[in-house]
Amino acid sequence: MSASAPTQPASKKKTPSAKPVRLEEKFAKLGLRSDMDFVLHLPMRYEDETEIVSMRDAGFRGGSSVQVEGEVTECDIQYRPRRQLVVTISDDTGQVVLRFLNFYGSQIKQMAVGMRVRARGELRHGFFGAEMVHPTYKMVNEGAALPTALTPVYHAGDGVSQTMLRKAITNALNKVQWYDTLSPTLLQELGLQDFESAVKLLHNPPPDVDQYALLEHEHPAWERMKFDELLAQQLSLKRAQASRRSQGATALPVVGALTQAFLATLPFKLTGAQERVLEEIRADLKQAFPMQRLLQGDVGSGKTIVAALAATQAIDSGYQAALMAPTEILAEQHFRKVAGWLEPLGVKTAWLTGSLKKKEKEQANALIASGEAQLVIGTHALIQDTVQFAKLGLVIVDEQHRFGVAQRLTLRNKAEAGKIPHQLMMSATPIPRTLAMTYYADLEVSVIDELPPGRTPIVTRVVDQNRRDEVIERVHAAAQEGKQVYWVCPLIEESEALQLQTATDTHAMLSAALPDCRIGLVHGKLKPAEKQIVMDAFTRNEVQVLVATTVIEVGVDVPNASLMVIEHAERFGLSQLHQLRGRVGRGAAASVCLLLYQGPLGHTAKQRLLTMRESTDGFEIARKDLELRGPGEFLGARQSGEALLRFANLEKDQYLVDKARNLAVQLLAHDLSTVEAHLQRWMGHREEFLRV
Ligand code: ADP
Ligand code: MG
Repeated sequence: MSASAPTQPASKKKTPSAKPVRLEEKFAKLGLRSDMDFVLHLPMRYEDETEIVSMRDAGFRGGSSVQVEGEVTECDIQYRPRRQLVVTISDDTGQVVLRFLNFYGSQIKQMAVGMRVRARGELRHGFFGAEMVHPTYKMVNEGAALPTALTPVYHAGDGVSQTMLRKAITNALNKVQWYDTLSPTLLQELGLQDFESAVKLLHNPPPDVDQYALLEHEHPAWERMKFDELLAQQLSLKRAQASRRSQGATALPVVGALTQAFLATLPFKLTGAQERVLEEIRADLKQAFPMQRLLQGDVGSGKTIVAALAATQAIDSGYQAALMAPTEILAEQHFRKVAGWLEPLGVKTAWLTGSLKKKEKEQANALIASGEAQLVIGTHALIQDTVQFAKLGLVIVDEQHRFGVAQRLTLRNKAEAGKIPHQLMMSATPIPRTLAMTYYADLEVSVIDELPPGRTPIVTRVVDQNRRDEVIERVHAAAQEGKQVYWVCPLIEESEALQLQTATDTHAMLSAALPDCRIGLVHGKLKPAEKQIVMDAFTRNEVQVLVATTVIEVGVDVPNASLMVIEHAERFGLSQLHQLRGRVGRGAAASVCLLLYQGPLGHTAKQRLLTMRESTDGFEIARKDLELRGPGEFLGARQSGEALLRFANLEKDQYLVDKARNLAVQLLAHDLSTVEAHLQRWMGHREEFLRV
């Protein structure tokens, strides 16, 4: 759970004294506070409730949602397969069963036999004939008027119904102070609608509206909203950039003795891509305003070495560098690797994580505060208040998307007074540039698009779990040949305890099946020291098969491991599978990844596994992931703040992006009051996220 999660206890039991949450608070959770917030809470989609379909005809409209109306003929609670409310309604042509898996007692009374219900939903043909599961419905009198226009559907939240939202929005539409942030002349030049009529149309579309254009966000009213939103984004990006530049950072210009000595010890040559991104980083570090660069590179592309070379530049320049990783296991890997490279060259390092003993923490803090530690490696313990850096020049954040916004913000307070440290963020989850720009201010992006030489591509097979015995045989054969194997246990999202249990069982099963192999077990509940012992043994090939939970997902680097088995691969997300698979294929040996699945597979799960089989290219996989999941989840949007674009699409609406960019430049130069008004309306409290 992220540190920025709400602090409410997760307990399901409601204590009698718990105060009911006020409606305002529920609205506030949706970001709805001022009248303008409500006005700009535009419909997510529309529903066509202008028509009632006879129950007989409804059966022929497979798939899409329909509206029917009829009298209740039966209303019962049934208990199989689980407690549910089952209501049968009928009209002259047939009957439809309404099924509610969650319901209130009041609904039973409401839908008593003889009452009239108007219900809409997807009609399916269940065991008992035509049925709708969880339809939206309302009680009506016979002959009640139908709406004449499309009905807007809003993004709602816990305890906030469409009706409540609609009421609050109507209210806000009536009392808000209408003004346009763009002048009539400007609107005419741009060929855009005025704000008030655009918003009003979107909330209450007239009956004769072009429905297709409305639904597809192509209506001129949507166009105005998209333009406004893009303009706000452009203004905000440009301002964030200006503010960041004015804040200043310490220039770290020296590529000196340490860097040279380090390069001389490397057993390999940097790839062309590594050289290129290193140049980009070096140039940034020489500037007296903070770098904010995202280093993207597929798993195994060699980001660590680049990060280490950025650190040596900071140290050569007389400043401290900090390297922060999201998990202890990954931080440890970095520590052993990077400290292993640099300590022999005389660099003084410190190690800091949450699990250190108090005394050890104090020692680390003292080294950091005195400036004696030139390189500090650890988890987010690094950015706690108690940690005071003497001369922090550079912060490197690995797997940056796993850190919350608040955590990244704290980093900025760690440099000398009035300055912010240079930031290098690393990610193996390639984020399309346009998307990255939407989430993080003026992020520069460097890409390592080349793997070190001598790698053989990983072969991936998708295997039915019935063939587990063959898989175990294969693991045995690999171990006999001196190769090493990861066996990844299924992800069990509902229960950490169950996940642990499964890992323990798998370890026992493999130990019994392969008595002549040494089998290790590593999971999230082990103490760091215990984890260390297992990982060390695996690194030294004293353990041949490592049973692991997803703790090994990132960063673990044992080049001799060349076979990976992932159980219940259908439960993992694409990028997670890609990360996991990246633990093999790190050495010269041909590597294999076996994705065990349990059928039958749903469409998305199947697509994911096929994508994994067909591609080892992280960018290709990320694209597919984006396609399957949509951008929201992609970046852990919950962590990185709301997506700043709700209506516009950077690719589809490119022509608007260009217009907005031009206008932003013009306004920033000549019309700051319009800039303020526009940002105030569209960004409000969200702008802070952009400055991170
Ligand atoms: P990632 O980008 O996934 O963090 P790493 O930095 O862990 O990748 O590098 C993966 C492996 O490749 C490591 O064992 C590293 O030492 C090795 N490596 C990195 N750069 C090169 C190179 N230019 N030539 C050969 N091997 C390299
Ligand atoms: Mg890495």
